[in-house]
Amino acid sequence: QPVVELANISRVYGEKYALNEVSFSVQRGEIVAVIGPSGAGKSTLMRICDMLEEQSSGDLTLFQTVVEKKTRKSLRERVGILFQKTVLFDRSVSDNVALGLQYRGYRHEEIQRLTIEYLKKLGMETYADRNARTLSGGEGQRIAFARVLLTGPELLLLDEPTANLDPLATRMIEEMIKTENAEHNTTIILNTHDQNQGMRLADRIIVLMNGKVMQIGTPDEVFYHP
Ligand code: ADP
Ligand code: ADP
Repeated sequence: QPVVELANISRVYGEKYALNEVSFSVQRGEIVAVIGPSGAGKSTLMRICDMLEEQSSGDLTLFQTVVEKKTRKSLRERVGILFQKTVLFDRSVSDNVALGLQYRGYRHEEIQRLTIEYLKKLGMETYADRNARTLSGGEGQRIAFARVLLTGPELLLLDEPTANLDPLATRMIEEMIKTENAEHNTTIILNTHDQNQGMRLADRIIVLMNGKVMQIGTPDEVFYHP
C-alpha cells in the first residue's frame, strides 16, 4: 500500500534542475533513507513531499491522493516534519511538547497526560518545567521530535535530523525513529549524508546525485561492492 508516490518529479531553479525526473514509491511502514552529497537535491525532495514547495512538473501522490490545491491542507495534517535545525520556543519543555496537540484542539487534561507520558518515555520527565533554551542540542532535538510524534503522523519526513548532533544524541534520535516505526508502523523518509545511518535504519536506500535517482534498493543491494 503506497503512502508516497513520486512520478517524474522535476524541480527547476532558473536553469538548474534540483530534481530531474525522480520517480519512486514508499510503502506503508517502510523506512527509506535518501542519501547523496550536498547539493544532490535531498532537501528539495523533502520540501516537495511536505508540500512546502511545489514541483515544476510531475505528480506527487500521498496516501493515494494526488497532491493539489484542494487536497493539500488535509494531507499536510497527516505528515510530520523534523528538520536539521531544532525548532523550539522560548517556553517550558512541556509547553514545547504540547504545542502540536494544542494546534489540533486536544483538551487541556489530555494534553497534560500525553505530554507527561511522552517525557517519561524519553526519561526526561524531570525536564518538564525547564525552559527549552536550557537544553543541550541533543535534548532539544528529542523534545522537538516528541512534539512531532505526539500528533500521530502517518508519514514522517526527517531532513538530516542528526546532522548537528554528537554520536550519543544521534543514537537516541535513531532509537526514537525505530521505536516510532515499530510501534505505529509509521512510514518514514529520512534524508542523511551518513551512509551508516542509512544502513542502521532503512529498509531501502535511495541514492540521489545531481537531482537524479542513481540507485534504489535494500542497504545490501546498494552498498555491496565485490
Ligand atoms: P541537498 O539537500 O542534497 O544538499 P538541495 O535540495 O538543497 O540539495 O539543492 C539541490 C540543488 O538545487 C543545489 O544545486 C541547490 O543550489 C539548488 N537549490 C536549492 N534550493 C534552491 C533555491 N531556492 N534557489 C535556487 N537554487 C536552489
Ligand atoms: P491554560 O492556559 O489552559 O490555563 P496552563 O497555562 O496551565 O494552561 O498551560 C499552558 C499549556 O502548557 C497547557 O495547555 C498544558 O498542556 C501545558 N502544560 C503546562 N504545564 C504542564 C505540565 N506540567 N505538563 C504538561 N503540560 C503542561
